[in-house]
Amino acid sequence: MSERQKISTQVCIVGGGPCGVMLGVLLARAGVDVVVLEKYKDFYRDFRGDTIHPSTLDLLFELGWLDAFLALPHDEIRSIGVTIGGEAVEIADLTHLRTHCKFVALMPQWNFLNFLAERGRRYPTFHLMMQTEGIGLLESGGETVGARAKTSDGEIEIEAKLVVGADGRHSTIRALAGLTVENLGAPMDVLWMRISKHPGEAEQRLGTIATGHMLVMIDRGDYWQCAYIIRKGSFDELKAQGIEALQRGLVELVPALHDRVAALDDWSKVSMLEVRVDRLERWYRSGLLCIGDAAHAMSPIGGIGINLAIQDAVAAANTLADSLASGKTPSDAELHRVAERRAFPTKVTQAFQVFVQDRAIDPILRGKEIDRAPLVMRLFDEFPPLRRLPARLIGVGVRPEHVRTRDAYASKAKSAL
Ligand SMILES: Cc1cc2nc3c(=O)[nH]c(=O)nc-3n(C[C@H](O)[C@H](O)[C@H](O)COP(=O)(O)OP(=O)(O)OC[C@H]3O[C@@H](n4cnc5c(N)ncnc54)[C@H](O)[C@@H]3O)c2cc1C
Repeated sequence: MSERQKISTQVCIVGGGPCGVMLGVLLARAGVDVVVLEKYKDFYRDFRGDTIHPSTLDLLFELGWLDAFLALPHDEIRSIGVTIGGEAVEIADLTHLRTHCKFVALMPQWNFLNFLAERGRRYPTFHLMMQTEGIGLLESGGETVGARAKTSDGEIEIEAKLVVGADGRHSTIRALAGLTVENLGAPMDVLWMRISKHPGEAEQRLGTIATGHMLVMIDRGDYWQCAYIIRKGSFDELKAQGIEALQRGLVELVPALHDRVAALDDWSKVSMLEVRVDRLERWYRSGLLCIGDAAHAMSPIGGIGINLAIQDAVAAANTLADSLASGKTPSDAELHRVAERRAFPTKVTQAFQVFVQDRAIDPILRGKEIDRAPLVMRLFDEFPPLRRLPARLIGVGVRPEHVRTRDAYASKAKSAL
């Protein structure tokens, strides 16, 4: 590819995470020409959440893809519990949800993204460009008219009626667009690492919490994907104590790990993931819209950011697909409608995350003595019907979306799609 190659499309989506790929697939299915840019060469990276929520599974059902998706290897979580100060409590019961699947599917996110991308490629107007990083915006008369991107073969310009920033919590697009970010703060960061798993070993509790420490273990078949939660900004302090301090912290939380933490013998085996909770004051400007974490960075609390990001994508497709399919540029009023629809669920979900951060996580990370679960969690544990409330927030979210976009190919050899 020569430098400054130009291509033209209707929608250029920057970011091939759950939000960007889902939007790309839905728009392509509706007959809209879409280019999705993903800066990495594939989806195979450790640091992606693995949760596919019941409301996302409902979307796959609406698209007719649920059976194929569930044929992929996955685990099903029907209830969520944590161990706090040695006490095990159940806090969410998903079995009463009014969704097709009454469970969270746990699957490495690369499998989910590969599944969506494979569905997208069945539509002729879906173009996913891997190893292509959005680095600039094309502007004309105060409007965004495309994006600049870096590929392994040089720079390209992508002319588009709409640029969508779906490039996550460190969004380049929102920075380039000069959109104002409101930072809500987060008291923690996450150390992300693999620990081997013994055959037959089962850990139903997703989180373990003790004074000063928290650990979440995700079952990935032959290993545990572990998220060790630390006080924001304390990684250098921990590193200075040596990797043995991390090993000790892990064993204090889950003694059964004592026989394998020694394999974590180098900091190169540990990634530090910055946690942010923020949102844009305004999600759009003429020719440009931000959604997903690019519009509202989510903390890992509750494992609900992916759901929210996908719901943003569905709402954006529902609102914009008809205009785009008829060749129009979405108006500011249409972009405003997307942002307005998604602002409320974003605010409520972030308020929940900030509440848990401030009331539970911050005191724990500051060393508050934890000898048993807080009252609210014990209530969930003792009165099972109460567990339906957190199940609804985690499994479905505040404003679930449904696929309203048409399938432009429905009448053509549907079985081939
Ligand atoms: C440590 C941690 C753990 C989490 N765990 C969970 C969980 O288990 N469940 C859950 O629901 N939520 C979880 N979250 C929140 C969740 O990760 C996000 O809310 C969700 O990923 C947002 O999806 P997205 O598609 O908007 O952004 P992302 O998933 O961040 O995807 C953005 C994509 O854009 C790409 N990209 C970035 N910049 C560019 C560029 N300039 N050009 C091209 N591509 C670019 C990235 O490579 C990435 O693929 C977690 C968050 C953190 C910090």
